[in-house]
Amino acid sequence: MEIRIEGLCKYYQSEGKTVKALDHVDLTIPANEIFTLLGPSGCGKTTLLRCIVGLETPDEGEIRIGGDVVWSGSQGISVPTEKRGLGMVFQTYAIWPHMSVFDNIAYPLQVRGVSRDAIREKVARALRFVQLEGVERRSATRLSGGQQQRVALARALVAEPKVILFDEPLSNLDAKLREETRKELRRFLSDLDITAIYVTHDRVEALALSDSIAVMRAGKVVETGTPQKIYFDAEHRYVADFIGRANQIQATVSSHENGHTRVETAMGPILCQPRDGLLQGSPATLCIRPEFIRITNQPTQDGVNVLEGTVEALEFVGEVYEAEIRVNEERLLARIDPDVQVKEGDVIRMRLDPAHCLLLSA
Ligand code: ATP
Repeated sequence: MEIRIEGLCKYYQSEGKTVKALDHVDLTIPANEIFTLLGPSGCGKTTLLRCIVGLETPDEGEIRIGGDVVWSGSQGISVPTEKRGLGMVFQTYAIWPHMSVFDNIAYPLQVRGVSRDAIREKVARALRFVQLEGVERRSATRLSGGQQQRVALARALVAEPKVILFDEPLSNLDAKLREETRKELRRFLSDLDITAIYVTHDRVEALALSDSIAVMRAGKVVETGTPQKIYFDAEHRYVADFIGRANQIQATVSSHENGHTRVETAMGPILCQPRDGLLQGSPATLCIRPEFIRITNQPTQDGVNVLEGTVEALEFVGEVYEAEIRVNEERLLARIDPDVQVKEGDVIRMRLDPAHCLLLSA
């Protein structure tokens, strides 16, 4: 089901001040996508999720689920949570410790008065789905963190919602289990006709899991796109910075040539991807990720975007070295394969791949 949010505002009063937790949010979440709300702590992700669910009442705007208005300020509509057809999985698994795995999963069906036979069948299907067959009689607390999270997922899925919402569901798991569960979750969700809305502040989780990501800041959605679009081709400095490490360098647009835009920087001229709306002479930010800076000692290069710099710091971070390289007054962060022989103090030549030199408006 598609979810459409228009002009949504939510204000809190805190210590005599008004906090704009949501500030005119417009968002369309396509049916059957895994859609992530990503942003730093306090940007309004949880508030948006809670407004969609109906646990929080917005101040203005409209929310539609599958075409039906479930909340509208102007029309005075407010559909209660239990009638919105949603499933939820939270950070704390909210598993009932005194109940068995079976009873935990069966609970949403029992409160709806579903027949015992139908409950047995649906719970069995949910258990199969999350690969927890055989533990249904066990107390839910006698499971590992990853298994408990799967119980929470099964409980959210058992009532066959068209939309499922996740609020940082993996944040209580250790790094390895978190990665495994993330992969599993992606597989689970891809096999279902379900729209998933996922809240996280973890960029890797967002990139790995999502079909689309909305990056939020201070109650607003800054940019929405596929993980690849957000990572490789962000339109905003804030987004490029938040989603991964990026070198950001002051530049001035000098010319447009052969499908590229040339800018002047303290490092010299650089050819970049063209970006509409940047006139000659206008200031811009050149953005390049560390992995697109290649160390090169080949004299046969065409010379485009080839720079010389001094390795000022070198740090081994597993898999690669991270190098800070000074070029005139600028410092670039680059990733260097361990088989490339460099040491601190070396003067090296590198190439900034023009296909990955992005221009953001300043
Ligand atoms: P986190 O990742 O830390 O949970 P978030 O992006 O989910 O952050 P929200 O929890 O939605 O952010 O909070 C958005 C803003 O609203 C914050 O400034 C927060 O302090 C404020 N806020 C949230 N709930 C309340 C409340 N009940 N009363 C007052 N202010 C609140």
